[in-house]
Amino acid sequence: MNYDTARKRMIDSQIIGGGITDQRVIEALGKVPRHLFVEEAMAARAYGDSSLPIGEKQTISQPYMVALMSQLLLLKGKEKVLELGTGSGYQTAVLAMLSAHVYTIERIRPLALRARKTLDQLGLLNVNLRIGDGSIGWNDEAPFDAILVTAGAPEIPTTLLEQLDVGGRLVIPIGEHHSQMLVRITKEGDGTFLRENIGECRFVKLIGKQGWNEEDRGTLNTN
Ligand code: SAM
Repeated sequence: MNYDTARKRMIDSQIIGGGITDQRVIEALGKVPRHLFVEEAMAARAYGDSSLPIGEKQTISQPYMVALMSQLLLLKGKEKVLELGTGSGYQTAVLAMLSAHVYTIERIRPLALRARKTLDQLGLLNVNLRIGDGSIGWNDEAPFDAILVTAGAPEIPTTLLEQLDVGGRLVIPIGEHHSQMLVRITKEGDGTFLRENIGECRFVKLIGKQGWNEEDRGTLNTN
């Protein structure tokens, strides 16, 4: 399997073909070796147009969705970014190439440790990874220029809005268990928030204090 050729095809058909126009995003996805973020048995499918299992009942997101969410954050290179739901670390690697520093949180320890190892192997030094509940954000490092949530939440966690800088963007899937709306929130100069509904999507659950209960089938976690 020639991974470089497969990645080039992915860029042409799924990313540019899918309508992504931010050149920096296209370049980043063209460089990050996605096959290193999945198990070896899955590597041949790494550049296909789909999400894939990464163990612990979690997934690495579809390449187009990674590109779309990255583009929506409007990164120019100097930003401080918070990512919730590190998963395999693939989206983290893309964000690390597009910004100055990425703070990422994963609640499942084995996934976090594997992601850390892969990011280190690639020499991405501008990433801080924490294991825990990301639904409450990373207060010590706030405010952030951009926040990306890569798991579906029942509603927008208020803590994340507080941790967003003025002019900052929060991209998050909001909705029910099996279907959400991808939403971009921008914090305006007067402290108000602009909400844009981008389109339907389907993510695993954001589990935590400002997310779902682990066993939830639809009730909001109010703890
Ligand atoms: N962006 C990832 C990638 O490229 O591999 C995929 C993320 S996966 C769709 C969502 C991740 O969010 C899972 O790994 C899950 O364990 C994690 N997650 C869910 N709730 C979380 C929380 N409260 N804090 C941190 N991580 C959480």
